[in-house]
Amino acid sequence: KKAKASGDRYLFYTQKMTASVAAKLTLENQLRQALDKEEFVLHYQPKVSLGSGQLTSAEALIRWNDPRTGLVPPGKFIPILEETGLIYEVGRWALRKALQDYLRWRAAGLAAVRIAVNMSPMQLRHRGFIAEIEQAIGVDAHAAGGLELEITESLIMEDVKHSIASLQAIRAMGVSIAIDDFGTGFSSLSYLAKLPVDTLKIDRSFVIEMTTGPQGLALVSTIINLAHSLKLKVVAEGVETEEQSRLLQVLNCDEMQGYLFSEPVSREVFEARFLAASPKISTPVLRQPDLG
Ligand code: C2E
Ligand code: MG
Ligand code: MG
Ligand code: MG
Repeated sequence: KKAKASGDRYLFYTQKMTASVAAKLTLENQLRQALDKEEFVLHYQPKVSLGSGQLTSAEALIRWNDPRTGLVPPGKFIPILEETGLIYEVGRWALRKALQDYLRWRAAGLAAVRIAVNMSPMQLRHRGFIAEIEQAIGVDAHAAGGLELEITESLIMEDVKHSIASLQAIRAMGVSIAIDDFGTGFSSLSYLAKLPVDTLKIDRSFVIEMTTGPQGLALVSTIINLAHSLKLKVVAEGVETEEQSRLLQVLNCDEMQGYLFSEPVSREVFEARFLAASPKISTPVLRQPDLG
């Protein structure tokens, strides 16, 4: 009897495993096709200055427009893209598409926003990555100066030496680097000072704790002061309430991003709602290439 019970259980697990492996394979094939059929889309979420209230940047956030189910968020498919190596191709597509939209905005004389693109840890480690960015930028100096790459902290910390070398090469092109989800990766302070980056994005969890946890406010204040003392710009992510926004302003945070100002929206909506309404290009957004 006992043996049979465990046998059944074994069979059950095997069936379940087979089912999940099959589901994954299906998804993998669908994602491959999605790339061919151009079903990936970029939505854009604005970042705004806490000082002036002006739009500063557009963060590109990928979605999969699955004809069967509609928009699929990146959390559902980025891990599969990474597991299968498809992330290189999709990542290259996202970078090129974002730059293309950005250059079109500039050519049309729309607002002087920068463009931010998220990078997978795997892309930064990839040999051809620096050359790919160089190619995507091409000869347009504005493309380099307006481009910001967002890279999560945990990735950089996994391989600090290699990361520093890659980040330096990217910055030497005039491209800016932001550490995404800052505070979740437990960087040591000595590393932070050495990292060739321009911006810290404070993770949403800290923004939430500013008003809910006892030490939350002090923590965010400390991160902002630390960043400023390292000459880094600070952006708060996931700002949803007026209270959070006011506190961040008092704490001297430079920029914010979140549902309070806007959710990520389609390119069309972004152009109509934000770019058409913002002041036109006045000052160049070029950053000087890093020659050091
Ligand atoms: P992230 O770069 O940290 O982006 C912020 C995420 O928080 C986005 O989710 C955004 O929609 C969401 N968000 C923004 N404001 C708020 C808010 O006020 N409240 C709440 N609750 N959420 C907010 P999304 O678009 O689902 O993207 C999730 C993650 O997927 C991104 O986190 C990024 O790490 C990754 N990702 C997105 N696009 C790409 C891409 O093209 N390539 C790579 N490698 N990763 C990407
Ligand atoms: Mg990001
Ligand atoms: Mg983030
Ligand atoms: Mg995040």
